[in-house]
Amino acid sequence: MSSLFDLSGRVALVTGGNGGIGRGIALGLAGAGADLVILGRDEAKNAAVVEEARALGRRAIGVACDVRERGQIEAAFAIAESEFGRLDILVNNAGIAAGGRPEEIPAETWDAVLGTNLTAMFHACQVAYPFLAASEHGKVINIGSEYSLFGAAGVLPYSASKGGVVQLTKSLAVAWARDGIQVNCIVPGWIRTEMTAGVQANERSYTRIIERTPARRFGEPEELAGAAVFLASEASDFVTGVVLPVDGGYAAG
Ligand code: NDP
Repeated sequence: MSSLFDLSGRVALVTGGNGGIGRGIALGLAGAGADLVILGRDEAKNAAVVEEARALGRRAIGVACDVRERGQIEAAFAIAESEFGRLDILVNNAGIAAGGRPEEIPAETWDAVLGTNLTAMFHACQVAYPFLAASEHGKVINIGSEYSLFGAAGVLPYSASKGGVVQLTKSLAVAWARDGIQVNCIVPGWIRTEMTAGVQANERSYTRIIERTPARRFGEPEELAGAAVFLASEASDFVTGVVLPVDGGYAAG
């Protein structure tokens, strides 16, 4: 049974894999046997996760990359190819959150959030396609949000980008099924990371979230690993276009 989830010999590229949810997923994939390519702008943070993966016995490299730049994504994949000669799993996780009153949001904010959370995902999927099609186990895992499902008055660009992530996922799933590539989306609930540090520190917001979450707590980044290993492995070969909440029941309530 465990061989269904075995990722030995596969290579996974994780955008934003140097911290938070991306790190939790990357180390989960490494624990299941995958070698890693960690993308992020901060080279020191990349290097730290590379060390953690190597301590698990995996091969791993970090590549400094701003995913808003298509050329940097292409260069990162070229480095990954020269190092490993293959790519089987793409995790599109890099993301930022910003907002404000919808009628006052600057165009630059919209562009930055959509560029990082949605357009970069499209570019990474396009660049990854030949590798994934050549793999017998091509998998894409896109990271959405509860705001893929619910409206959010305070973070409209974020919510719009994450809604787009779901439709990007479903469209690619349909388009690439004939290539044997599965494309799925994980929707994390409220997870304890840098992105949510402000909310965690604000007692009113924190309490509101805990009361809204059936599990009555935040999740930890490592708790995304199980869903990611499933969606990266043979166990999910007939699963595509799915939106999977990992959220302590938030989306069910
Ligand atoms: P963090 O802020 O902790 O981490 C964000 C990651 O994205 C970092 O690794 C950062 O690396 C990377 N990143 C940001 N911008 C870029 C860029 N332009 N190019 C390359 N990498 C970039 O956030 P989380 O771990 O919380 O979030 C990860 C994903 O999960 C995001 O897509 C987020 O929207 C989503 N999510 C998070 C939830 C939560 O509760 N935390 C809930 C639902 C969804 P660097 O700065 O080095 O570039």
